[in-house]
Amino acid sequence: MNRSKINTKIPIVGGPCSAESRDQVRALGEWAAKQGWNKFRAGIWKPRTRPGGFEGMGERALDWLVEIQRDFQIEVITEVATARQAEQALKAGLNGFWVGARTTVNPFYVQEIADVVQGAPIEVWVKNPIHPDLAHWEGAIERFQKADVKEVRAIHRGFYAFRSSVYRNSPMWSIPLGLKKDFPQLEMYCDISHIAGNIKLLPELARQARHLDFEGLMIEIHNQPDKALTDAHQQIRPENVPHLMQHWDRADANSQKEMDEILRQEKMNWNSAIDSEIDRLKQFRKNIPDQMRELKPDDSIS
Ligand code: PEP
Ligand code: MN
Repeated sequence: MNRSKINTKIPIVGGPCSAESRDQVRALGEWAAKQGWNKFRAGIWKPRTRPGGFEGMGERALDWLVEIQRDFQIEVITEVATARQAEQALKAGLNGFWVGARTTVNPFYVQEIADVVQGAPIEVWVKNPIHPDLAHWEGAIERFQKADVKEVRAIHRGFYAFRSSVYRNSPMWSIPLGLKKDFPQLEMYCDISHIAGNIKLLPELARQARHLDFEGLMIEIHNQPDKALTDAHQQIRPENVPHLMQHWDRADANSQKEMDEILRQEKMNWNSAIDSEIDRLKQFRKNIPDQMRELKPDDSIS
């Protein structure tokens, strides 16, 4: 990791999942700036799994974010998922953007976005794809590096896993560690909010991310988390962030001993998850004849 980069800011990219109103996002942005966080984040185009939910405030909220940059002197990023959104963010004068998990997965989308920002003085943060695939993540990073933007960074937000788990998105730490090995100069933040999916797991994830030598954390904050329009379960109040960061501060960065222990635990969890999945599938197979009989009561299927 490039330790020569000295950054006096607190290594947080923090902000609400979604910008919901000008007042809300402005108050949070001012807080983030006063606390000295590295960057402020707020989603304005929200990728929703199903239509009909809150899809973000869209283009008009870009003005709110640019105002925050100007009035409070903090760099602001948002998520872009299409070339058009990237163009709008660039034109508005945003410091940068992140590419979300649903976009990183598609090389066509990534290339179209990279073409729009060719040579632009902006930062691009690349989240890992939804599925556990290092090659797609690295490919997206390379596309932006080739586009010669000011800076490319990575965000680890966990992966979809077949198993049920305490996490919303499984950390599968060996994948971000693989990325670090292949790109030793790349700065990587850990999006503990989207890995956890709830607030209880945040302290432990902050500690682990520090031990594993991440450069900082992405944290979702909201002034009234229970009323948030998106990701209500995983956002914390801004005033609780300093307490959360104590877990980060107290952990040794890049500790080999802790790293081994985290990976050992993860391997154990996977082994037991795979064992119970095998049991579940065996049970499922045993029940197939019964289920088929129920569907076709007249046939004698064995
Ligand atoms: C987000 O950061 O709010 C978001 C939707 O992220 P992801 O792409 O990780 O799901
Ligand atoms: Mn979110």
